[in-house]
Amino acid sequence: MQSPPLEDAPRPSETLRAFNRRRLLTALRQGGAASRAQLAQLTGLSAVTVSALTTELMREGLLAATPGTTRRGAGRPPALLSLAAPAGVTVGVAFGHNQVQVAIGDLSGRVLAHQRVLLDVASSATRALDTAAGLVGTALTEAGTPRSAVVGVGMGVPAPLDRQVGTIGSNNILPGWVALRPAVELGSRIGLPVALDNDANLGALAERAHQTDRRVDDLIYLKISTGIGSGLILGGQLHRGSTGSSGEIGHIQIRSDGVVCRCGSRGCLETLVSTTSIVALLQPAHEQGLTIGDVVTLVAADDPGATRVVAEAGRMIGRVVADLCNHLNPAAVVVGGELSEAGTPLIAGIRGAIDQFAQPVVARAVTVRAAALGDRAEVLGALLLAADSARPL
Ligand SMILES: [Zn+2]
Repeated sequence: MQSPPLEDAPRPSETLRAFNRRRLLTALRQGGAASRAQLAQLTGLSAVTVSALTTELMREGLLAATPGTTRRGAGRPPALLSLAAPAGVTVGVAFGHNQVQVAIGDLSGRVLAHQRVLLDVASSATRALDTAAGLVGTALTEAGTPRSAVVGVGMGVPAPLDRQVGTIGSNNILPGWVALRPAVELGSRIGLPVALDNDANLGALAERAHQTDRRVDDLIYLKISTGIGSGLILGGQLHRGSTGSSGEIGHIQIRSDGVVCRCGSRGCLETLVSTTSIVALLQPAHEQGLTIGDVVTLVAADDPGATRVVAEAGRMIGRVVADLCNHLNPAAVVVGGELSEAGTPLIAGIRGAIDQFAQPVVARAVTVRAAALGDRAEVLGALLLAADSARPL
């Protein structure tokens, strides 16, 4: 369990006391039950402050205490504090290029409902946003929760963002979304304020908050789908860059004479190894129309052609990630997105290229693994964003 990754200072107009309460609640939401001493360590707050605030939060019914189970020496084990029964729910909305997912979560991080619809997100923002708004209603019904119980909404989009104005930061990545402010658009459809971030950033947050990466402060999350992006957690904080466009590794040029990419450049990584490119590469060897799901199935059945193409894609991605590792010296590279379902050949390809092209000391320091949350990482990250931006408890 670590201190909250999103913010380390009060928001404008937020009192220090409100900020400290939020910090405690975030630490418990992300890491589960903890003693007062552990909370002091995790948040950097003094023992006196933790004691005063947890007493206050328990009096308000927001925290519950259970007796500790491990004895330290002869003393009584310290009580463990956890979030009490959910005081509200959060909504996460994650757009991919070809699908939208919606999840409802409670404030302890439990997922109450999950919905997914396939559609062409890139070409029509209106249809995608209308669909997402409908799905939010369906998911709330599935969770048995009224709209009035929603305390925060988080949203991810598969494109760089202009964080100053809340628009997509590129005119070409999502052509149907130019000049729109996605958070405002969704917010007006569902009648709730919406917090916005890049989808790979949200995947990084979710994977890092997941049990296995709790102690990883430097992590690169790769989203490999119809587009390729990355989310960077550096020193325990999400790194968004000066304008919100960090981590766009899909548009690193691999071949100067390659095909023109949707970003306007030529021979980008994304033109060579996105799920669309991989399906197109394998299609001539198959009679029926292939999907990326078929490719994953073929790899699982040891089909030599599919395994070869996916392994080569892994090495090409790994060649780029090796340079990123030399720059950033991460402890973990987590591979998410639809192609991550292809598993071993993809991960082995990325691992092999990092071992070959990163500095030995850098390569030794980094573990490479498939996303533990699969292709739900982004929508679960949207729930974390929602909880962090939730209206005050
Ligand atoms: Zn490009």
